[in-house]
Amino acid sequence: MALFSAPKISSNKKVPKKRRLSRYDDGESYFNTRGGYCIFSYKGLVIEKIQNMYSIARQIKIKGFPEESIQRLSGIYNSGEIIKGVIDLALEHVDKERHAEVRTKYKNWKCPHCNSQGLYNSQDVYIVYRYTTNEWKEEVRTDTGWRKIPCLYCGHDTLTHEVDFVGDEVMR
Ligand SMILES: [Zn+2]
Repeated sequence: MALFSAPKISSNKKVPKKRRLSRYDDGESYFNTRGGYCIFSYKGLVIEKIQNMYSIARQIKIKGFPEESIQRLSGIYNSGEIIKGVIDLALEHVDKERHAEVRTKYKNWKCPHCNSQGLYNSQDVYIVYRYTTNEWKEEVRTDTGWRKIPCLYCGHDTLTHEVDFVGDEVMR
């Protein structure tokens, strides 16, 4: 009984368009990690889950990660336990330092508005500008120094310095 139809699984693994939902439409914010789509980091590997089908959403660039495991992970899995097993086994072989670096790059955060957890995608972070009018009545845009990140699930934006990061040890 999904509220929305699942995004199509495309071969180029694009993230579906963000849902900009009305601020007051609480009913729709239930489209979150329990529903059809989520993207998250599991121990530094970015995983996309669409209607309980798991796939790797970013190229694996961890030194020492076995080629054979990369091959196996190029497919789509219908079990979180199985893909977790493949990843955990492969991670025993990796360069620990490089792995730690990748893990800081792919972190999860929790949206304070809807409590959904997912990948903190720094590409989504945007600059908050202040718009004023100068003495010639021209609009002037100034950087407030603030940055915000939108939530993929409820559409609310959160200031980056208020973001709550959460762990990446859980296969969702
Ligand atoms: Zn949210």
